Amino acid sequence: MPNPYIDDDLAALGEHVRRFALARIAPGFQERDRTRVLDPVLMREMGALGLIAPELPAERGGQDMPCLAAGIIHEEIARADLSMSYVNLLASLNGQILSQHGRPDVVDPWLARLIAGDIIIAIALTEPQGGSDAAQLRLKITRDGDDYVLNGEKTSISAADQAAGAVVFGRTGGAGSGARGITAVFVPLDTPGITRNRFDCHGQRAIGRGALFFENVRVPVSHRLGAENQGFVQVMQGFDFSRALIGLQVLGVARVALEETWAHVSQRQAFARPLSAFQGVSHPLAELDTQVEAARLLCLQALWLKDHGHPHSAQAAMCKWWAPALAYDTLHQCLLMFGHGGYDRGPMEQRLRDVLGFQIGDGTAQIMKSIIARHRAGREAVPI
Ligand SMILES: Cc1cc2nc3c(=O)[nH]c(=O)nc-3n(C[C@H](O)[C@H](O)[C@H](O)COP(=O)(O)OP(=O)(O)OC[C@H]3O[C@@H](n4cnc5c(N)ncnc54)[C@H](O)[C@@H]3O)c2cc1C
Repeated sequence: MPNPYIDDDLAALGEHVRRFALARIAPGFQERDRTRVLDPVLMREMGALGLIAPELPAERGGQDMPCLAAGIIHEEIARADLSMSYVNLLASLNGQILSQHGRPDVVDPWLARLIAGDIIIAIALTEPQGGSDAAQLRLKITRDGDDYVLNGEKTSISAADQAAGAVVFGRTGGAGSGARGITAVFVPLDTPGITRNRFDCHGQRAIGRGALFFENVRVPVSHRLGAENQGFVQVMQGFDFSRALIGLQVLGVARVALEETWAHVSQRQAFARPLSAFQGVSHPLAELDTQVEAARLLCLQALWLKDHGHPHSAQAAMCKWWAPALAYDTLHQCLLMFGHGGYDRGPMEQRLRDVLGFQIGDGTAQIMKSIIARHRAGREAVPI
């Protein structure tokens, strides 16, 4: 269907990625949920096809494609497996942070491996005492000559045990320095002093989450991202991008579920009619389909605004609270339309578990709504 944000090139890209994802990623969707590991062969195939962070500048190893192209890729990979599309998400988010704020001689070799699908880079912000009030984080970063020394713990980090490196946020300012005392550094995760574990997650099990423990971990000062004490202010701006991408990921899952459910209710009979003949079946699906279409346009609009250099923080926060909640409601309804079969271990229940994580990860709905309110009413009126 024609779409104002998707030109012929982007439409062709979407078709191409959908064919690849159907042939190569969809078949292992449930198996990866059981084994809880991403497939490195598939990651390299995605890299070889240019599907990982294509929006990065060509001089840093990317393809100078619009952010909308990254969005189209995210949604097509997520249709096949939300966990595999995490490879794209972490690469786009961290690729932007590293390329904009890192020293080229330090980060470019890592960017090359990231874009090739050789490695995953994690983002480590959340700590055990709380994630929403991230400006209060405690992981200590101390300067010692030409090194930074890290001590503390990060928790709930996606791909913690599979990642080769991490963007780590820590405190360089004194007590009470809040958002103005945070610095971001790039840390190779084989650095001495790092231990990690893995949680038993409800969904997104192939990517997984875990904790990272830092005990006197040394990284050169050259690994700093952005200016000292500016990690929160400068580096976290990248999250607007990931919020719109997450919206497209979960809506990709919702859209494929709706397509399968429409086909199912058109074919399965009850009371001598297809299920779709009953408005109790068709109207909830029609309502959700309407909202999914609208939410998708919002996400595409946020990426279009980014591509054209316009502010889009409020739109990105709208994508991030609405799309995951809507995708979850859609998956719930779709599952019910399959009756007892939907409740068995299978694609619908896995998708339901998978999309739920994004109602928390990358910031909860309450925090997103506060961001929107702050943009509308001002920081004085909405202090958090
Ligand atoms: C699937 C998944 C992936 C994740 N991946 C990563 C990752 O890669 N890297 C990373 O750093 N973190 C990651 N996280 C952690 C995530 O960012 C945090 O869980 C999130 O920011 C919330 O922090 P918290 O869990 O500590 O909850 P808390 O901050 O303790 O909040 C608990 C509840 O209180 C509500 N609340 C808090 N403050 C307010 C307020 N002012 N007004 C209204 N309600 C409020 C919250 O919305 C939430 O419902 C991930 C989490 C999940 C579930």
